[in-house]
Parts: sequence; structure tokens; C-alpha cells
Amino acid sequence: MSNEGVHKVVIIGSGPAGWTAAIYAARANLDPIVFVGVPKQDPGPVLPGGQLMLTTEVENYPGFPDGIQGPEMMEKFRAQAARFKTQIIDDDIVQCDFSARPFTLYTAEGRKVAAHSVIIATGATANWLGLENEMRLATTGGGVSACAVCDGALPMFRGAELAIVGGGDTAMEEGTYLTKFAGTVHLVHRRDSLRASKIMQQRFLSRPNVKPHWNQAVVDVLGGEKIEAILLEDTITRQRSTLPVKGLFIAIGHTPTVKFLAGSGVELNEKGYVALNSRSSRTNIPGVFAAGDVADSEYRQAVTAAGMGCQAALDAERWLAAEGVH
Ligand SMILES: Cc1cc2nc3c(=O)[nH]c(=O)nc-3n(C[C@H](O)[C@H](O)[C@H](O)COP(=O)(O)OP(=O)(O)OC[C@H]3O[C@@H](n4cnc5c(N)ncnc54)[C@H](O)[C@@H]3O)c2cc1C
Repeated sequence: MSNEGVHKVVIIGSGPAGWTAAIYAARANLDPIVFVGVPKQDPGPVLPGGQLMLTTEVENYPGFPDGIQGPEMMEKFRAQAARFKTQIIDDDIVQCDFSARPFTLYTAEGRKVAAHSVIIATGATANWLGLENEMRLATTGGGVSACAVCDGALPMFRGAELAIVGGGDTAMEEGTYLTKFAGTVHLVHRRDSLRASKIMQQRFLSRPNVKPHWNQAVVDVLGGEKIEAILLEDTITRQRSTLPVKGLFIAIGHTPTVKFLAGSGVELNEKGYVALNSRSSRTNIPGVFAAGDVADSEYRQAVTAAGMGCQAALDAERWLAAEGVH
């Protein structure tokens, strides 16, 4: 591989983190190349443009006082990166060799890419129940969401009967958030006890507008354009019942998109996310950086992902300068 063929910065992923890293890297004359990814199930839906392609109204991203549709926002991110001459490739990275420099990345379409530095921005997928009507209503603004903090405050959910599915700390936290807006928050759980810490359970379950439904599984989401009810099945008796709701929030965890890093030597943390060196975007491998939800199990917001993308580009720029790559 000739040195001219070595990219200064390769960015993997086209969500808020990847595009922001590209904007910063391009404006710093690093000629970034972005691999946007291809649609896949991993284990939930992964799309070029990232998780915001699966939502409708985004109301909490600064700069859009009237809100903006998720896919339209990602189109704007992409256009801004393209304006500064980012090279954009519709392909997936399937394997990384970080054992020697320059690094080598392999793509689904058989490309072999050489890079002085790499920014991993492959995000995470919210775990979904896997029901057909759930995804249909989630992607059309029909009242199903995997992010209570993102969508709970939307006018359609105010004063409404809402259901949340999950039993961990995140579900408790998201459920507690929903109690601020909802009429009643129905907690639907497959078992008769929760995995969440006692303190989180207590904080949520002690709210006056929370009603738990134990030993219940959601087996269907009912409604045409908007959700009208969920179909529940008792996990012990198998008896079915209908619970009328105006919103369904899925809070059964997230899976970071890291399969392509297998064998690369990039360290993951105990939750399976890319481990970062303190507040920077540096991974354990010099020259390999990470940004956004792939390295953040805590905040998982578009604006935090974009902020981390900016950090990664600045970290990569400084690292390349120190390494004498111009
Ligand atoms: C339903 C829903 C609604 C949400 N609503 C909001 C909201 O209103 N406001 C808000 O701030 N946040 C919201 N979020 C959270 C927000 O979407 C995420 O925090 C944000 O998208 C994370 O950005 P990211 O760039 O880290 O990753 P992602 O957006 O997950 O993007 C990951 C990218 O990596 C690509 N990729 C994956 N694997 C590969 C590979 N091997 N090779 C190449 N590319 C790859 C994918 O194609 C994708 O482009 C919502 C999330 C969900 C699920």
C-alpha cells in the first residue's frame, strides 16, 4: 500500500457523532472519509444516518426552536460534512487491523482501506421487542419510542395513559421521567420482581401515577396511525388482556455496535461499550478514537454524540500533528 493511499482520518459511522467528527476533520484539512454503513439488523435496525432515522420529531437539539424530523436533521448533518469535501462511502466496515500502522480496515464490499487514524462512531441500537406493529408505529410517529427522555415531553403524551416495558435501572429512570407528563405510567414487566436497584425501584414505584403490571408480556401493539392499546399476555396463565394507552416506551437496554471490532484489540468496558481514556475520545490504541453512543452508555443523546464527535476530531488532529502526519 503506498503512503499516498493512506487516509489521515477514517470515520466509521454516519450518526451525529460521525458527521460532526467529519465536519471538524474536514475543516482542519484532514480530508476525512466517512463509511456511512449499510442497513442491517444488529440486533435491532441500524440505518445509515443512525438512530435518528428511526424517529420523527426531535425537539431537544439546540438550534431548531420548532423541532425537526430526525431523518431531515441527519440529511442536514450529512450536507454540512459534504460541503467541506468529506468523502462519503456507502459501505460497512467489517474488520479492523490495528496491530500495525498504518491501520487497515476491511469493508463489506471488499475494499481494503489504509488509515493513519480512525474514529469509531458506530452508535448503539435500542433493543426493541421485535413486534411488527411496534416498529411500524415507532417509525411513523405513532406513539411508540425507545427513548423516554427524547420523546416523553412531546405534546401527544401529556396527561396520557402511557406504558413502559423494562425492569432495569434505565427503565426506572425513564419511567420516573414519564411520570412528570403522563396521566398514568403503566409499568409492564415479564416477572414479578425487578432487576433495578432498590433505590431506583422505590423512586419510580412510589410515584402516585405509576401502576405496575407484573408477569405481563407485550405481544402486540394495537392501533392504525396511532397506538390505541397494547395486547398483554400473562406469562404464567397465558391469559390475554388489552391495556388502552396513548404511548409505549421500550426500555429494555441498548446494544453497542462493536461486532466489527472483534479481534482488533480495542478495549471495551464492562458494559460492552468502547472504553475511553478519561474525558477524551482516546481508546487504548494510539490513533484510534471513539465518539457517541458506541462509547457512551450514560447519556445517549444526539447532542452529546455530536459533542463527542467534535472531541474525537480534535483529538485525532492533535495526535496526527504530534505524529508528524500533515
Ligand atoms: C427512537 C429513538 C428516538 C430518539 N430521539 C432522540 C431525540 O429526540 N433527541 C436526541 O437527542 N436523541 C434521540 N435519540 C438518541 C440519539 O438518536 C442517539 O443518541 C444518537 O443518534 C447517537 O449518535 P451516534 O452518532 O453515536 O450513533 P448512531 O446514531 O447510532 O449512528 C451510528 C452509525 O454508525 C453506522 N454504522 C454502524 N456499524 C457500522 C459499520 N460496521 N460500518 C460503518 N458504519 C456503521 C450506522 O449506519 C449509523 O450511521 C433517539 C434514539 C432513538 C432510538
